[in-house]
Amino acid sequence: MGVRTGKQYKERINRLKTDVWIKGERVKGKISEHPAFKGIIKSQAELYDLQHITRLQDRMTYALNSDEERTGMSYLIPKSRADLERRREMIQVWARHSAGLMGRSPDYMNTVLAAFASSVHVLKGEPNCFPERLERFYEYACTHDLSFTHTFVNPQNNRSKLAFIEEDVTNARVVKRIEEGLVISGAKLLATQGGITDEIIVFSAPGVQDKAHAFAFSIPSDTEGLKFICRKSFVSDDSSYNSPLSSRFEEMDSIVLFDEVVVPWERVFFYDNIKAANEFYTKGNFVPFTLHQIVSRQVIKAEFILGLAQMIVDTINISEYQHVQSKVAEIIKGLESSKALLLASEKNATRNAQGIMIPKRMPLYVAVNQFQESYPRFTEIIQLLGASGMVTIPEEAQFRSSIGSKLDHYLQGFEVGGRERVQLFTLAFDLCMSGFGSRQSLYERFFFGDPIRLSQIIYQTYQTEAHTTFVKKMMEKEQAD
Ligand SMILES: Cc1cc2nc3c(=O)[nH]c(=O)nc-3n(C[C@H](O)[C@H](O)[C@H](O)COP(=O)(O)OP(=O)(O)OC[C@H]3O[C@@H](n4cnc5c(N)ncnc54)[C@H](O)[C@@H]3O)c2cc1C
Repeated sequence: MGVRTGKQYKERINRLKTDVWIKGERVKGKISEHPAFKGIIKSQAELYDLQHITRLQDRMTYALNSDEERTGMSYLIPKSRADLERRREMIQVWARHSAGLMGRSPDYMNTVLAAFASSVHVLKGEPNCFPERLERFYEYACTHDLSFTHTFVNPQNNRSKLAFIEEDVTNARVVKRIEEGLVISGAKLLATQGGITDEIIVFSAPGVQDKAHAFAFSIPSDTEGLKFICRKSFVSDDSSYNSPLSSRFEEMDSIVLFDEVVVPWERVFFYDNIKAANEFYTKGNFVPFTLHQIVSRQVIKAEFILGLAQMIVDTINISEYQHVQSKVAEIIKGLESSKALLLASEKNATRNAQGIMIPKRMPLYVAVNQFQESYPRFTEIIQLLGASGMVTIPEEAQFRSSIGSKLDHYLQGFEVGGRERVQLFTLAFDLCMSGFGSRQSLYERFFFGDPIRLSQIIYQTYQTEAHTTFVKKMMEKEQAD
């Protein structure tokens, strides 16, 4: 047991035979060989293999106990600032492998679980709450290096404040409490990577009003009655030339259906408790830990976009134009802000009463909220710099054909041949204009919540009193003068 290899991850996911639906059919056979999933499963397996490279072992893993059993660093509950740095370095090694394009590399959910396990004090002594089960489950996940997806939000049927949507029959809810456990029926909005992980964590988003919707649990993806309904795949083909990113990092999003799913009591962390559902989220460590993982990844993604923008500039030789420089500078400013905010969250981290080192929330909130706006702008900048180059991208087969040498000549860039120039612009297209690329923008905008409501949280929780006092003092001085 302990840190798993890519091969072990693949074998386990194939063995599960999870109930996954795509194009009107249930996936049959090995999911790791299915055209919509083989790329992402291979990339995920490569991440697990990185944990076994000797030179990276101390960065990617830590010793769980004196038997020298190791587990992924993403499960580490930080007790010091050095631990936060270790976590950031691990996250960034994994993020670099996918250019930050895998929002759900395993460290995301492992971080969520570490955050939950370090927040059990919020559940202690509360009715229908089982903090000790959560702790046991965290240990089980660490020792087996489990992979997770999750689903928190309810389907988007009626978002009016006046709608009592929890009373309807669409949203996943507890329909029975039986000797074996909870019985869940209904749907949850979506789960990225749903169907290609060992387990799914299901958790009520904050704001629950009805106790049948106030729960948290984790179950294996192959649990009877659980179904993952996929959207259209954004993998257009297997070629690393034609679809360099979507062929490897298309994570898939699936709607999650529960048809009388029995959740064994051992896996129920709480139920029928509205206060716990809200406070576990607001008073626990979910927000600061998860944001720290997210911003660490987004820094790498911004580095990648900056590199791409500069390569486009060099390839068509446009660096002399002032607006081109200022557009690239916009990306640099975004990157440097994210890096600085990440470090500020670590420098201003504080240890809580449980001895856990909590990164400062506000710089992380600001970084994520800014990225929700700046990421779509970065992709727009790539389009503005690339112009027609974004679409003059014949496929690789054309370069291999009898007209290949002509294309290599006529599509040449500044000091590069046509084939190489088109390869770069094809990558830019995949990042910014393909189905995969558009979904990346939507992901960065929404996956951690609505940007509008996130900026409201920033406004409502920021302490402005010292600043208004500052202004008042200044006014008093004026009067005194
Ligand atoms: C690519 C992608 C992957 C995702 N992956 C996951 C996942 O793996 N697991 C998971 O649980 N979730 C996932 N999510 C869901 C994500 O958490 C939600 O998209 C996010 O919380 C916003 O909710 P919503 O999509 O339901 O939008 P809605 O809440 O329906 O918002 C739609 C529009 O209405 C406005 N609006 C609605 N209500 C209000 C309000 N009260 N005040 C002001 N404006 C309002 C919003 O501003 C927005 O413009 C993912 C989302 C995306 C796009």
